[in-house]
Amino acid sequence: MTTTLPSGSDPRQGAAPASRWELRACGRKGHATYAPDEPDLAERLSGRTGSGEVWRCLRCGDFVLGPAKASGPAEEAPLVLRGKALRSAIVLRVLAVERVLRALLLALAVYGVLRFRASRASIQEALARDLPAFRASGIRVDQLALVRDLQHALATQPSRLTLIAVLLAGYAAIEAVEALGLWLLSRWGEYFAVVATAIFLPLEVRELTKGVTVTRAGAFVINVLAVLYLLFAKRLFGLRGGRAAYDAERRGEQLLEVERSALGSAMDADRKHHPHG
Ligand SMILES: [Zn+2]
Repeated sequence: MTTTLPSGSDPRQGAAPASRWELRACGRKGHATYAPDEPDLAERLSGRTGSGEVWRCLRCGDFVLGPAKASGPAEEAPLVLRGKALRSAIVLRVLAVERVLRALLLALAVYGVLRFRASRASIQEALARDLPAFRASGIRVDQLALVRDLQHALATQPSRLTLIAVLLAGYAAIEAVEALGLWLLSRWGEYFAVVATAIFLPLEVRELTKGVTVTRAGAFVINVLAVLYLLFAKRLFGLRGGRAAYDAERRGEQLLEVERSALGSAMDADRKHHPHG
């Protein structure tokens, strides 16, 4: 239940206006109200209405009826995802889901290779038994691409199949770790994703030179965009001011910070007007 303050000032003044993403997040998780210990700041974030006290949500900026969900020093207020940080969190989580799907496909491929390795002998037996019968009946089985592929795969050494399975499993594990790091929105996850994705780009280029398919081209484009996005938007490896600029940008979007600096400049202005006060 939300209400606006009767006072004339725009409650969202100073901070970026809430987009549908903030409203959606509040709808899902509830509003993020916080009562800072600092009385001046608390006053700016709260008010009284006919129905009782209201506190400003640190995510969407609306005034919410009822006591604040949490309280403590302003320094210890929880970091709320909003603005650019919230939108980038959505991008990273979509990417994380894509990584999970890739990991699952790779795990399936590992299972397939191992199953094939285990049943190689029986497949060979079946072919040795059935192919002559087909040949005798005039069907040109040896010209079928599927049969040729199968015979080619059967000729592969079991040790080579094991190696392929191990490599695929390693790739699946990398994708799973990437997914976890991206989903948790952690700094290590961003670095891990950039390095792991960039390492495989040359391999993807080589695949593309063998033949362009929608899947290959799509995966390549997604990965190039992901690397560029992570590098520049997340300011990795010191790009665009690095970690310090990244943290400053995030803090600048926090409503509590906006209110705090507004309070600071209001007090400065006050001091100028009343230098002896
Ligand atoms: Zn809210």
